[in-house]
Amino acid sequence: MRPVDKSLFSTNKTTYNPYGSARTDLIDALGGYCNYCERQGFATALEVEHIQDKKTYDLLKNDWSNFLLSCKNCNTCKSTKGIENTFLPDRDNTYEIFTYLESGYIQVDPSLDSPAKEKAQALIDLVRLDRMPNRNGYKGKDTLWQERKSGWEISQRYLCKYKKDDCDVETIKDLVLNGGFWSIWMKAFKDFPEVQKELVASFLGTNKGYFE
Ligand SMILES: [Zn+2]
Repeated sequence: MRPVDKSLFSTNKTTYNPYGSARTDLIDALGGYCNYCERQGFATALEVEHIQDKKTYDLLKNDWSNFLLSCKNCNTCKSTKGIENTFLPDRDNTYEIFTYLESGYIQVDPSLDSPAKEKAQALIDLVRLDRMPNRNGYKGKDTLWQERKSGWEISQRYLCKYKKDDCDVETIKDLVLNGGFWSIWMKAFKDFPEVQKELVASFLGTNKGYFE
């Protein structure tokens, strides 16, 4: 999951009323992607997500500091869950904590120890990033796992091309900007710092401090 930093975007606004009016500024700050599942979203399909849920924390309902961008599916899964013991993309290095597998699976990086391991799993559970068929509560209309699988396959295909000098960094960048799943591509190109550097630089609001 891409770690982000909203403070890179400077407006004078700290409150938005109604909160939905923050969407355009959030897209300008963070790019048009779900901050949880990393799908590229049509601007109108992305929602202003309340990090601290707006039912419990009414005072934070219009507060810029409490916003992220989320697709409808992730937002619905998160609902009013608490965030006390979980990693979050706007406060932790969430790039390091997951691995992505061929089948569309996401899992906690096996090298993590407690308590990081539990906090990473809590983030998967928070928005149910592992929602897939035959899992508890999966709704058939949610195609996240198929899209993630497809993103993984395309990243591997272009990794092969890149190794053979069949495509350039610019092409990779365009594919990721257009198709989302930044982390999957970053992991695929882990041995190619020039590609990673370009992906970090070209996605708005990425917390660059973790990649220097
Ligand atoms: Zn999402």
